[in-house]
Amino acid sequence: MAASLVFRLHNRGPKLVKEVLLERGWVEYDEDKREEDDWNLYWRVSAFHNSEYHNLLPWQRFNHHPKTAGITRKDHLARNLRRMRATFGSALYDFSPTVFILPNDYIRFLAEYNRLRLMRGLSVYWICKPVDLSRGRGIFVFEDIKDLIYDCSVIVQRYISNPLLISGYKFDLRIYVCVKSFHPLTVYIHQEGLVRFATEKYNLSSLHNLYSHLTNTSINKFGPFYKTKKERVGQGCKWTLSEFRHFLHSQDIGDVFLWQKINNIVTLTLLTIAPSVPSCPNCVELFGFDILIDNKFKPWLLEVNYSPALNMDCQVDITVKKGLISDLIDVMNYTLADSLRERAYERKQHKQPHFLAKYSSHVKSPLSKFKETTSQKQRSGSQSSQAQTLMLLKHLCQPVKVNRKESRPHAFIAEYQRNLPPVDSNDIYKGRPKKINTTAANTHKQKTLNLILSSHSRTNESEVNKQRCLGLAPWLEDVRILHVSDVTRLGDTETEADTELSGGRGVSSSIHDMSPRVLGSRLSAHKLPNIHSRSNHKPVRIPPERSIAPNVHHIPPPRVGDFIRTFPFNLATLRASQHKLEIKTVVQELHKLTAQLATMDKKLWGKEKEGKKNKVDEEDFDALLWGLKDTPLLSHFLKPS
Ligand code: ADP
Repeated sequence: MAASLVFRLHNRGPKLVKEVLLERGWVEYDEDKREEDDWNLYWRVSAFHNSEYHNLLPWQRFNHHPKTAGITRKDHLARNLRRMRATFGSALYDFSPTVFILPNDYIRFLAEYNRLRLMRGLSVYWICKPVDLSRGRGIFVFEDIKDLIYDCSVIVQRYISNPLLISGYKFDLRIYVCVKSFHPLTVYIHQEGLVRFATEKYNLSSLHNLYSHLTNTSINKFGPFYKTKKERVGQGCKWTLSEFRHFLHSQDIGDVFLWQKINNIVTLTLLTIAPSVPSCPNCVELFGFDILIDNKFKPWLLEVNYSPALNMDCQVDITVKKGLISDLIDVMNYTLADSLRERAYERKQHKQPHFLAKYSSHVKSPLSKFKETTSQKQRSGSQSSQAQTLMLLKHLCQPVKVNRKESRPHAFIAEYQRNLPPVDSNDIYKGRPKKINTTAANTHKQKTLNLILSSHSRTNESEVNKQRCLGLAPWLEDVRILHVSDVTRLGDTETEADTELSGGRGVSSSIHDMSPRVLGSRLSAHKLPNIHSRSNHKPVRIPPERSIAPNVHHIPPPRVGDFIRTFPFNLATLRASQHKLEIKTVVQELHKLTAQLATMDKKLWGKEKEGKKNKVDEEDFDALLWGLKDTPLLSHFLKPS
């Protein structure tokens, strides 16, 4: 492996992530041996602070997007779904049980409770859950309002009292959803997931029996029947999603529509927060969607989990979660930008970035200076990523005392400098009365910039400055200007222009580039510029029509391991998500697809599949059908004979 990638785990966990990454040849971050920024992936079970997002360097990734609590906190999810229901109609947003946030909604709950009670012959059950707890903690089911006792903020949700049962046992599905990017929205759902069983038979006359009503493993693994071999379910309390698929087929139950409805739930839920999540191309998120299926085969969303549990309680966990994490790392698509860390920090010899160590032991790292300054600023208000990038550059330009006799730049810096175009050192301060023009400052500035970029990137700071001077929204220009001078990755979005420009330049052999990507994300807001690009003095002009039309050659891959791309799923949704997310269009397309799937003939697909299995027209924007065994192509599935 030419370049080891470095992972950092908060509080030493989760073990599974460590295991998978070590197996893949990654190295664990050691704070005694490495600089603060000398890592490629930081994994935390809890949330990152806002300031940490602002300080991300080009080669660094987080396992969380910012501000996703809008769906992962039970009360926030309830509010957001309510809002969407009001906007798009309750027929569309009908997948979550009626819910009230208490104490605020108490009066409304009381009214609904009484209304339903008065309806003859109907027993109505409710479930009460603390808003910010997980793993079944504090949850209880009740029928009579006198049993509703709470001492913290809770949600009271209509209890789905007619769940689909397998041999009398209640179960729910844990669906793993990876949001690769919120701008543009790019979603993958894993083919494998968990079916989580209650360990005692479902019984509405014993509402207090949690082993009968809750499907959380954290509860059922302590149940008296956990180890018992239960009819059909077997020992323990879990199946894989594949086993569930097999079960459905063995019962002759058509599952196409079921998976599509679950798929819709995932998309519609993510749409509630997608426009408000700040763009953070260096992040990825794995959500756990909990879905309960009722006896009419209607799937219900129970909740969305932030940092779904990765502990290994049984063989099923090992089968599902190991592959899941491995595929997630593949979705992150470590590429050229990630090798920059390796270039910046020569391991073993230097704890600090290589050339700084050579220059002077008392010169403070520009990176740490940058961090100090940005965090100071962040305390007083928020900043755009671009502003921070510029600030980083400014820091890099500060004159430093250099013992020039000692200053022999690293080979890659030297090579890089030979290829550099002349730099207008005033550019970076354009419009500012700053007087920094010493040779030492320029040398340092350039070398430091080289450190942040790569030996292959011929970016210079005047290009970066042009980016700024053109304003922060170049995509709004009539003639769109794509600067190849960008300083960091735009997600892992590589545009056609990038590809042309990069000319297949060397990337660490251990880092493969596996996906064609969407042009449009280049143009979305709040982006830091791109590090993939080869430098060029002149900005690359993209004709407006080309930059507006989605480039069908650069779409997210339909499949990464067992992750199936579920959004965008056709050209219309690709277009609708490239700039400002057009939720109405997405909703219409979802409707269309669901209607098509509902009416399609399964046998027909069997015939189609035979003839066309291997023929994938690369010009088409197609998608795979998540959920189904063998994940057929959507176009083949829907094609009439
Ligand atoms: P937690 O975050 O504590 O796991 P959940 O909302 O996932 O909370 O609820 C825990 C379990 O309770 C679920 O796995 C499911 O078995 C059951 N449950 C939750 N809500 C409902 C509901 N509305 N109807 C039926 N069962 C539910």
